[in-house]
Amino acid sequence: MTSALDTPRPSSHSADADDDTTLMAPTPQRRQNDSATFASEILEKLTYAIGKNPAAARRHDWLEATTLAVRDRIIDHWLESNQKTTESGEKRVCYLSMEFLIGRLLRDAISNLGLTQSVTEALAVYDVELDMIELLEPDAALGNGGLGRLAACFMESMASTGVPAFGYGIRYVHGFFRQEVVDGEQVELPENWLMHGNPWEFERRENSYEIGFGGKVAAIDEPGKPPRQIWRPGERVLAVAYDTPIVGWRGNHVNTLRLWSAQSLDPILLDAFNSGDHIGALREANKAEAITRVLYPADSHQAGQELRLRQEYFFSSASLQDIIRRHLKAYGTLHNLSDKVAIQLNDTHPAVSVAELMRLLIDVHGFAWDEAWTITQATFSYTNHTLLPEALETWPIHLFERLLPRQMQIIYAINAQTIREATQKGLDGGKITAISLIDENNGRRVRMGQLAFVGSHAINGVSALHTELMKETVFHSLHELYPSRIQNKTNGVTPRRWLMQANPGLTALVTDAIGPAFLDNVEKLADLDALATDAAFREKFMAVKLENKQRLAKVIEERLAISVDPGAMFDIQVKRIHEYKRQFLNIIEAIALYDQIRSHPERNWQPRVKIFGGKAAPSYAQAKEIIHLINDVARVVNADPSVQNLLKVVFIPNYNVSLAEIIMPAADLSEQISTAGLEASGTGNMKFALNGALTIGTLDGANVEMLEHLGEENIYIFGLTAAEVAARRREAHSGRSIIENSRLLREALDSIVKGVFSPDGQERYASLVSNLYNNDWWMIAADFEAYWQTQRKLDDLWQDTPSWGEKAVRNTARMSWFSSDRSIREYAKDIWRAGPGAPAS
Ligand SMILES: *Cc1c(COP(=O)(O)O)cnc(C)c1O
Repeated sequence: MTSALDTPRPSSHSADADDDTTLMAPTPQRRQNDSATFASEILEKLTYAIGKNPAAARRHDWLEATTLAVRDRIIDHWLESNQKTTESGEKRVCYLSMEFLIGRLLRDAISNLGLTQSVTEALAVYDVELDMIELLEPDAALGNGGLGRLAACFMESMASTGVPAFGYGIRYVHGFFRQEVVDGEQVELPENWLMHGNPWEFERRENSYEIGFGGKVAAIDEPGKPPRQIWRPGERVLAVAYDTPIVGWRGNHVNTLRLWSAQSLDPILLDAFNSGDHIGALREANKAEAITRVLYPADSHQAGQELRLRQEYFFSSASLQDIIRRHLKAYGTLHNLSDKVAIQLNDTHPAVSVAELMRLLIDVHGFAWDEAWTITQATFSYTNHTLLPEALETWPIHLFERLLPRQMQIIYAINAQTIREATQKGLDGGKITAISLIDENNGRRVRMGQLAFVGSHAINGVSALHTELMKETVFHSLHELYPSRIQNKTNGVTPRRWLMQANPGLTALVTDAIGPAFLDNVEKLADLDALATDAAFREKFMAVKLENKQRLAKVIEERLAISVDPGAMFDIQVKRIHEYKRQFLNIIEAIALYDQIRSHPERNWQPRVKIFGGKAAPSYAQAKEIIHLINDVARVVNADPSVQNLLKVVFIPNYNVSLAEIIMPAADLSEQISTAGLEASGTGNMKFALNGALTIGTLDGANVEMLEHLGEENIYIFGLTAAEVAARRREAHSGRSIIENSRLLREALDSIVKGVFSPDGQERYASLVSNLYNNDWWMIAADFEAYWQTQRKLDDLWQDTPSWGEKAVRNTARMSWFSSDRSIREYAKDIWRAGPGAPAS
């Protein structure tokens, strides 16, 4: 049973993303895009879809009417795209991801369809501002951070580069929680993004699948046939599809994001209800719906709960059943599945798909093991996103076996086959232990990374460094066994959202300076490089930056009642709060700076605003302490008249995609300071630099490649390398002697421990600080001095406005390689063999 809140409007049944129903169908007159037509259609939607007249309409009603009018245009393109793909028989990409952090969609759609001017003018007829109503659209926060945002950028880039694709994921009723800061501490509140309905989605009841859990496996031995296994699940739930169109640049291609919602097969047990057990009657429905109720809020950490495994299997099985149904309908056979479908596993969350596809091929469609295995491997590829041990997914065997008994059998069989191969190739016992799909050391667990690896023909890391470390660490032995499988695909971000939409001022300036070609081919941004030494252009560039900073300053004033000077350097770190990302290092530097400004007021300090934002997993105590510390420091520093204009510290609550769109264009300095070797790629680093921020960062993730593209004079790199971090960890490094030898660091830590920032809670940060002395696992003490020195170099540079401006322009000019269009073209060519230019299959 769906609650009234998440029931979509019945008007949502007018198009079909499926390829099979659109062929040769008559289509209505295509919609016109002039502002007069728009104005009358918006009025029509307001009247007939929403049931209001303009006098009674609230801003929300205008948003909805506008969305519906824009949506009609998308549908025209959507149907056309699907028809084209079906007719051509092109290979499709299915991108399986537990998370899609798409944010708002209206501006994306309007901008990619080139409707900005028409819609703005149409709304002006009713005295409504597009900029105002856009802000009322809730953020679709169906993801935690970088991994989910990557999936969203990839969906947009696949549509923009013409790669036919389905995104498959979960329609969480409650996406990522809303963060508030109360008395300096994070408070988590439920996000109810479907409260006003969701005009972007189309419910597809006809595309529903049964998903089983538990029960038993029976052996069937029929005369004349090979014996086979059949799974009889103990429970079943229904997966119902909800489709959202994803529009590419200039509307050239529209793909489908298909999200699954769990529903009970028996919404209400009438017998129980009639006999008076009203709660019991709904219990089954509640249990089923719980599967897609909430997004797990832990990032780079394995959740480990049974419900999470249910979520993973639920959306994997639904997606595979859907892929198989569509394929059989088009081709009548599954033998050629891998010619027509490429399935990308975004991290290990959908890794159970490997066993599930084997089950469907063998048990349901009668394939022999060997052919099923060939098809499976040829169809799947897998992206690894982290090397952090605490994030590598494993499941206790007893849980796996109870929930998915047949898939567990298949995993054992895959494991036996893999180990046989490794033994034949002469790998020794230690390596075989590393390869095994079963971890025998920690109470017997299924290793999802190993499962995804062996079931795929290509495994990729997300930056050059990360891919090399993957070969040396987690997949060392598997890489030895299958040396041609690992490849690199460095992440990217879509320039439509992260430059054109987020930074219209800069987009207009660039268009003026080098012409509009970069809008279609982002590599043309390189033409800006020649203007970096042009004083007049630099000044215009920095004037746009100043406007963007004023816009952010206004948000800070409105939300936090802190006034910041847009003329100061905006030094920004926004991302999930995590020890490896080292917000702690940044705030210690702020404390040291605060001390130094007060003890040496005569020095030439440069005004800075240190801005932080990001959510901590609710169960991650240290990360929450860091948020508390940042807010404690902000309160003290911002109230101290002796530093007023030289230092401000701001924590902006509830960092999300929409806030990122305001923050990225307003940054002078981007903080990308993770402990080297631990950030797989980062994409925040790319968004900042594309918008003309300079980066202070470690040699980690994609920073390494940014250094290559930007040139070493245009990025500020400091600190230990990944190899040096690994060596120190082996040598049981501690921070004690470093702290004792660094007066700046020692005094900053002392002031934390003495309660300078927490007079009401003296002991609050004792363990956070003592960890640095005793262990310094994240190399904060080890990197502090280099970080401090590099920050002072940036102070010097800030005074030299022309040099800063030149570097800022070069950052924008040289970031085009980090477009997700480039990432997608590489995946399409090297892994999927799909998209424009792919060999006909
Ligand atoms: C880009 C983005 C991220 C990823 O940021 P990193 O700095 O790469 O960790 C996380 N959250 C949001 C909202 C983003 O837009």
